[in-house]
Order: sequence, then C-alpha cells, then structure tokens
Amino acid sequence: MANVLEINKLSVAYGKVEAVSDISLAVGEGQIVTVIGPNGAGKTTTLSAIMGLLPSRGQVSFDGQVEVVPEVERMVVRGMNLVPEKRELFGTMSIEDNLLLGAFQRHRHGHRDHAATMEEVYALFPRLKERRKQAAGTMSGGERQMLAVGRALMAKPKLLMLDEPSLGLAPLIVREIFRIIAELRRRGVSILLVEQNARAALQVADYAYVLENGQVRMHGEAGALRNDPRVIESYLGLASKHQEMLAS
Ligand code: ATP
Repeated sequence: MANVLEINKLSVAYGKVEAVSDISLAVGEGQIVTVIGPNGAGKTTTLSAIMGLLPSRGQVSFDGQVEVVPEVERMVVRGMNLVPEKRELFGTMSIEDNLLLGAFQRHRHGHRDHAATMEEVYALFPRLKERRKQAAGTMSGGERQMLAVGRALMAKPKLLMLDEPSLGLAPLIVREIFRIIAELRRRGVSILLVEQNARAALQVADYAYVLENGQVRMHGEAGALRNDPRVIESYLGLASKHQEMLAS
C-alpha cells in the first residue's frame, strides 16, 4: 500500500523549548491513523507543522512528493486539509457560505464542482442541509464540528487531518462523529486523527501512534494497541470505561 503521508524525524520548537522531537509516522492510502496522548504531548503541534502552519525540521512527504518546507496554501492545493481543534468557522456567515469557502481554493484552480460536492456533504450531514441558512455562530458544538468537517470535505482532500473532533461534545454526538469518520474512510479519504478519546480513536483507526512528551512512545496496529497492557493502563483504564459505550 502506498503512503499518502510520510513524516520523517519531524521536530518543532517554540523558542528554545522543543515540543516535538524526531517524530516519524506514516498514513497509508485509505487508512485512518490516530495519534493519541495526554495534554501537551505535542499532537496539535505535529498537525500544525505537517500543514505548514509552524516551522519545523525534518521531512514531510505528501502524496509522493517531499515538501522541504511545508507551506499551508500549497498543502491545501495539493489536497491536505486540517480541521483545527477550534473549528475556526465564520460565525456571522451561514452554514452554506462557510461550506462554499471550503471550496475556494479548488474553485480558484478551475474546478467547478462545488455544487455536487455540497450535495455530498449534505448527504453525509443532513442536519447541515436543514439549517443551511442559519448563522454558523448560532449552532451547537456538535453541529459546528460537523460544519468544520463538511467545510474541509468541500476541498475534496486526499488527506484529512482532524484535531480532537470529539472535544467538548455530548456522547451521542461523539458517536455520530466517529461513525462519519469511518464512513469517510469507506469513501476513500485518508485520515490522520488526533484524539484524547483513546478508546474511540483506537476503535475506529487502522494504525496508531502514542505520543508522550513530544516523542513517539509506541506505535502499532490499533487493534494490538487496544490490547497492550501499557495502553490499557495509561489510556483505557477504568476512568475512561464510559467511553467504550460511547464509541460502540
Ligand atoms: P492538547 O491535547 O492539550 O491539545 P497537544 O498534545 O495537542 O495537547 P500541543 O498543543 O501540541 O499538545 O503542545 C505541546 C507543547 O508545546 C506543550 O508543552 C505546550 O505548552 C507547548 N506549546 C504549544 N503551543 C505553544 C506556543 N504557541 N508557544 C509556546 N509553547 C507552546
């Protein structure tokens, strides 16, 4: 299987403090790969560096091409898309206009398929269609997350990077979001999923990396990590038992 993304010895520093050190990871075509780890492990920093939002050292290879210095606009044009933890929607604009903005780069490069793509997004998220004229800022947290994912899909990405899509959402909505992540893989989108909800992430993913203190501590098939005593103790213990119900 070809890798859509390959990261080799990626390091990121904020001033003198190194937040991510020599991380290597890969996402195979059509795979869901998850990065789990505690607060401050460097998950968001890693995604930002891959996307070119932060300067980094190391090598990022995307869709068969090495990016010496990832640069965000170019990465978007090449088919990489990030749904950030803060969603970053335009609150006063309607749902539909937020979605259209997601297709902006494609449109600029001559693609005129946004109407069809929007219907695909609406099919995936009927709630967005029902409320398409509503201002994004008035939506619930779950609806906002759906819109953020929908907007990313408007760019028809080869690789979708999701930063904690379940953060702050009610259990039923979390389940719905993970159902959609699995559905996206079925449709051929490769996904790099950053999550603190380790149980749900390991259930949906094919492969997983455990990040601690800016370094990869463990990696392997998601199914194997789910049964690894170290992962169970640190990430799947009794405290997170309730997540199992939410993820199933
Ligand atoms: P969380 O799950 O809490 O979002 P994370 O794994 O995504 O955590 P990062 O947000 O990548 O972790 O942070 C990694 C480290 O880098 C942390 O120690 C954090 O304090 C630090 N850091 C993040 N952003 C900055 C910044 N802009 N300036 C300085 N340090 C930062």
